[in-house]
Amino acid sequence: MSEKPSPALTQNDVRNYLNFLREAGFLYLVPGAGGGPPPAPHRRAEQLEALRQETARCAKCGLAAGRTHVVFGEGNPDADVMFVGEAPGRDEDSQGRPFVGRAGQLLDTLIGEVGLRREEVFIGNVIKCRPPGNRDPELDEIQTCEPYLLTQIALIRPRVIVALGRFAAHTLSGTTTPITRMRGKFHLYHDVKLMPTFHPAAVLRNPSYRADIVADFRRAVALVGESAV
Ligand code: URA
Repeated sequence: MSEKPSPALTQNDVRNYLNFLREAGFLYLVPGAGGGPPPAPHRRAEQLEALRQETARCAKCGLAAGRTHVVFGEGNPDADVMFVGEAPGRDEDSQGRPFVGRAGQLLDTLIGEVGLRREEVFIGNVIKCRPPGNRDPELDEIQTCEPYLLTQIALIRPRVIVALGRFAAHTLSGTTTPITRMRGKFHLYHDVKLMPTFHPAAVLRNPSYRADIVADFRRAVALVGESAV
């Protein structure tokens, strides 16, 4: 199957996104969308907190009715590496924190293996509310939730995003290439480097993926090292 080009902002995206930013009280744009200077680091935490409060009240799609908590994501507002999974599961929904179940424990271990700590990175999801029965999120849910992710990225300005699993990788890259072929190579999400890899839950089911996911995390970390010089 041929790969679609990575998604560019359409006029409609830009209009929706500007409206969203205006409503949320943000004055700057996602990198790559022609935005102004990044917020000063000390303002990022504040602005991220304002966005978290905004998402906590979100009722823009049907997932709001069934959730216990909105899972905004957590970590360093100034992170170079951002991990993006699919959507909260049962544990995450009940605690309001991303990746806290078995897959999350493995994620923490793997992050440690590449020399990082959970507090140093930012961990989030494409979708902020748990889909019932952990079904795949639907297109309208993805589109409704995406401005929150874009705004998180605009604030944090990570140097690299690691997409955890098929769903995040396909949603962010705009391709449907099998994850086994996408992983290990950099793609783009708007203008941010994107490293697709396996979901930690897939590694729990299939431990032979472990070496690959660690190698992909290392590639992401190495990119940060290169772009820092
Ligand atoms: N799986 C995900 O994709 N995200 C979480 O937060 C937890 C499990």
